[in-house]
Amino acid sequence: MNLRELTTPALLVDVDALEANLADMAAALPGDRLRPHVKAHKTTALAARQAAAGHAGFTCATVREVEGMAAAGLGEDLLLANEVLDARRLGVLDARVTLAVDSPETLRAAVDGGVREVLIDVNVGLPRCGIAPSRAGALADRARAAGLTVRGVMGYEGHLMMLGDVAERARLTQECMERLLAAHAEVGGEIVSGGGTGTYALNTWVTEVQAGSYALMDTAYTAAGLPFRQALTVLATVISVTAPSGEMPGWAVADVGLKALGMDHGNPTVPGAQVWFCSDEHLTFAPDAPLAVGDRIRVLPAHVDPTVALHERMHLVRGDGPDAEVLDSWPVDLRGW
Ligand code: PLP
Ligand code: MN
Repeated sequence: MNLRELTTPALLVDVDALEANLADMAAALPGDRLRPHVKAHKTTALAARQAAAGHAGFTCATVREVEGMAAAGLGEDLLLANEVLDARRLGVLDARVTLAVDSPETLRAAVDGGVREVLIDVNVGLPRCGIAPSRAGALADRARAAGLTVRGVMGYEGHLMMLGDVAERARLTQECMERLLAAHAEVGGEIVSGGGTGTYALNTWVTEVQAGSYALMDTAYTAAGLPFRQALTVLATVISVTAPSGEMPGWAVADVGLKALGMDHGNPTVPGAQVWFCSDEHLTFAPDAPLAVGDRIRVLPAHVDPTVALHERMHLVRGDGPDAEVLDSWPVDLRGW
């Protein structure tokens, strides 16, 4: 199939960039040193590539992601790195499921849902989930008393991922991980899980890194200096062109708006153009060289996870041109809740 046959907007994955990202990460964090986070791509076919690269365990953010991974035969060791108050769908899965807990309530939900293994989720500085480090040991005792296996701790330093100053990112990562290791000393277990794409090379304290964005990448992580290639773009069609007149410069409009792009990290990027703004179904931009109605462009999203979650499929392409070959089409099958 040829790229011209796709209707737009369409999510594209540059297969060579994806394969390079998977190989580079597997070289940096081989095997169980990486527990890839599937929320970044929500696609079991891509997770299967990560498994083939040597990573048997995965991180999930939702019950639906755990279910889908189990159904796809990728349930060897799934960590739901999130708090869940209704775990009933987890206990019935044909998979090894470990659930993050940070309170007596989430612990009770794990027991009630038939989950057998947990990690104590520790707050390391991001104001989100996680118990205070000093209280982690008591929660672990409580979990064991309830018959659960405590595999260790997790703590996500998400507030540091995009820090521009890498030395500062490294220093603060160490501070966060000292909190996590203090909790681990009280909790026990073999796992210390944390980290992400922004700290994958800096976080040397965890036993496993939960990075996900590295596989497809976005412009925010590229701006933060990460070495992975931009594999993800959204193909769009130019639907209107306005020529310059008087004081007003010219602009073009493509059929990809904020309903096809995760926008919380800002506007997308169009190579060879200045992006002005996005509306629901429009992208207005000023191209450096004139474009015609019907031309196609590839738009680089600022944030990978919410972009992917808006699309039903991702199309694997090789090459940059308008006639690039479409090699495969993967369903984004872990969407929804
Ligand atoms: N771990 C948790 C709990 C997360 O929420 C995230 C992303 O937000 C990550 C790890 C790492 O993701 P990324 O690869 O995008 O840095
Ligand atoms: Mn993200």
